[in-house]
Amino acid sequence: MRISMVSEHASPLAALGGVDAGGQNVHVAALSSALARLGHTVTVYTRRDDPGLAERVDAAPGVEVVHVTAGPARHIPKDELLPYMPELGAGIARDWAGVRPDVVHAHFWMSGLAALDAVRATDADIPVLQTFHALGTVKRRHQGADDTSPNERAWLEPWVGRNVDGVIATCSDEVFELRAMGVDARSISVAPCGVDSALFRPDGPAEERGNRARIAVVGRLVPRKGVDIAIRALAALKHAGRTDVELVIVGGSGGASDPAADPEARRMIRLADELDVADQVVVRGQVPQADLPRILRSANAVVCVPWYEPFGIVPLEAMACGVPVIAASVGGLIDTVVDGVTGIHVPPRDPEAVAEAILQIVDDPARAAELGRMGRTRSRTRYTWNRVAQTTAKVYRGILAQADPVTDLTADGGAL
Ligand code: UDP
Repeated sequence: MRISMVSEHASPLAALGGVDAGGQNVHVAALSSALARLGHTVTVYTRRDDPGLAERVDAAPGVEVVHVTAGPARHIPKDELLPYMPELGAGIARDWAGVRPDVVHAHFWMSGLAALDAVRATDADIPVLQTFHALGTVKRRHQGADDTSPNERAWLEPWVGRNVDGVIATCSDEVFELRAMGVDARSISVAPCGVDSALFRPDGPAEERGNRARIAVVGRLVPRKGVDIAIRALAALKHAGRTDVELVIVGGSGGASDPAADPEARRMIRLADELDVADQVVVRGQVPQADLPRILRSANAVVCVPWYEPFGIVPLEAMACGVPVIAASVGGLIDTVVDGVTGIHVPPRDPEAVAEAILQIVDDPARAAELGRMGRTRSRTRYTWNRVAQTTAKVYRGILAQADPVTDLTADGGAL
């Protein structure tokens, strides 16, 4: 198949860890490469956010990235990109004048608008599939007035969900949210995100650390990721007389040389100071993905306790490295992390529960090793990008054949 991916803000070529560069970038890059390895041809359309970018870039064998001019050629926060979607759609349609794709897969709601525009402009019957990555309804529920999404999202996102040919959700929780949003259940398929199992593996070097046990938090530094909960858990442990655990925080817009350049990183450093655990917290800034496995392997556990999480690739990366995950029971983590088998589930926003889970893992190395081993097995059986690409290609073929969408219920949560 000739596949067009549309990813307006999240380029597969971007550096990861900044405010707007995380899982969606990884997803688009890895899914595209894996589809290409299966023999398909993939073109990824993304907005030009730097005047120096070449129009077309070969990103991987069989994967080309096309930078479409849509609005100013500089970084613009993703929530401010809506006015440029018609221009993005028109640019994509122009590119299709040569060779039309068989199928379009849009990522994030705004890309869905651009993709539907492009198909309309082409006047051809090209099916559009949509992966939302995050839903405005969920974001508004958790972030309230702090949600910077444009108001139009409230009606345009459901409109995209109803007008595309199929929606590909990444986890079972998202299916419920989509149905609540008014998306027809029959149009929804499930294909999870995956993990780079060649990079993230248990064997390989681990970063040196001191005598303290180590927990790690990895991801974009935004409040909803709940990094503060991990710091508060350290404070709870200290209160209980345990100062033998350190917390490594990876991510944010600051580089390794100046992690505190990130405002959220500064907020975390201040909090650690206030709670008197600053000497147990190491803020590392943005780390290239290739360097993450060394850090993950050095940790007794990875803590992923967001308020909500559309999918969450970091827990899979930890599992693939054989590291237990302490996970809030929200969103994609309900599917990926099996409580008591590959990690420990805790309620969201509950530092005491995180502290308790840390002790269970740190004080029982045999159990920790077993959780890690099962995590590795689960990640390899269910979440390789190869498998995700096969499921996704099946969904594309189902739509092309006008057949019922495929449901890969990766979500049964029980057996490996
Ligand atoms: N990441 C990275 N370096 C960092 C922080 C994050 O490479 O400093 C990567 C991480 O390995 C993961 C992705 O960014 O692949 C984050 O994806 P996730 O789905 O966990 O969160 P999202 O960013 O989508 O909220």
